[in-house]
Amino acid sequence: MRPRAVRGFLAALAAAWPEAASELHYTDPFTLLVAVVLSAQTTDAAVNKVTPGLFAAAPDAAAMARLGEAGIGAHIRSLGLWQAKARHLAELARLLVERQGGAVPGARAALEALPGVGRKTANVVLNVAFGEATMAVDTHVFRLANRTGLAPGRTVRAVEDALVARIPRSMLRPAHHWLILHGRYVCRARRPECWRCTAARFCTFAEKAAAPAGK
Ligand code: SF4
Repeated sequence: MRPRAVRGFLAALAAAWPEAASELHYTDPFTLLVAVVLSAQTTDAAVNKVTPGLFAAAPDAAAMARLGEAGIGAHIRSLGLWQAKARHLAELARLLVERQGGAVPGARAALEALPGVGRKTANVVLNVAFGEATMAVDTHVFRLANRTGLAPGRTVRAVEDALVARIPRSMLRPAHHWLILHGRYVCRARRPECWRCTAARFCTFAEKAAAPAGK
């Protein structure tokens, strides 16, 4: 996709998703970090079902550390990988209290040093909570970047680097949300709904889907 088309593609997504934001429920950097850790290989909707109870019991790092692995696990059993997530969150909370006075750090290295926090999670927290122009590449972003010609790459890191290089800096923060929402609701994995895609004229996907009969 050429630079002018990149801008057009993103402008079309911006118009389609003017209120784009994370669909995870959170109130501050700590609850955002916990929600993102919980969302690994799980839908945001499933995470949002368990976090009200978890955050009522543990609204901050000190309370989460006191709640401990077993206490956290009791709130998140409906999620995939809940045992590992409970273990990570208990340790993460303990380390935040010990190293950061309970605050979530705004530096990548300190975030990625926490259990359960990889590059993608750090990118989300840096983008959403700290206003940094980072790009978290999840399954939707990876698929869109390759399928549309926006930023092809074989690995998650290659796609992240290509997106950061190609997307104008002023668009990078919201672009994260535009791409996720577009991938979740329009440019779906199995059958992209190209017939109703407002960015279709900029997309280089060779097999654009026509509307099913009756639509
Ligand atoms: S035209 Fe189709 S493949 Fe291209 S971005 Fe839109 S939905 Fe996705």
